[in-house]
Amino acid sequence: MADRMTPEQRSRCMAAIKGKGTKPEMIVRRYLFSRGLRYRVNNRKLPGSPDIVLKKYKTVVFIDGCFWHGHEGCRYFRLPKSNVHFWRHKVAMNFARDYANNVDLELAGWRVIRIWECEIKTKAKREETLTNLYNQITGSQNIGYQHPDENDATPLAAEPSTRYGES
Ligand SMILES: [Zn+2]
Repeated sequence: MADRMTPEQRSRCMAAIKGKGTKPEMIVRRYLFSRGLRYRVNNRKLPGSPDIVLKKYKTVVFIDGCFWHGHEGCRYFRLPKSNVHFWRHKVAMNFARDYANNVDLELAGWRVIRIWECEIKTKAKREETLTNLYNQITGSQNIGYQHPDENDATPLAAEPSTRYGES
């Protein structure tokens, strides 16, 4: 496919891809919120300013754009035909920086979850990705089947729908 974008168009396009509050990120936020999770967004005090910070779970989530973060083999990762070396270098630098940020975050005790934008953009994958993400975030907290925001550990059988002697 030929690269038909003018430099102006391309820079506008790239700005849109790079910008915070992009759509896949909003989808993830809305989903986690609907599942009862509370978080902070774009925390600049943490390495790489993670898109979503779940302090309670000591977990940060990044939604990585496939182009900027170099998702090999992904259909959204196609280097422009012009200035190939420039783009390749830029993506490689981002990739290295992501890695360094992961290490810094993990050393500080954070669990880092990165998901690719294409895993959210693609409708077929979206549901699975979001469910997995939720399970990954809350997984370690599920011991004892306590709802993370409830203190009472009500046994599962405490509320029978029918009682003996009733019909
Ligand atoms: Zn991708």
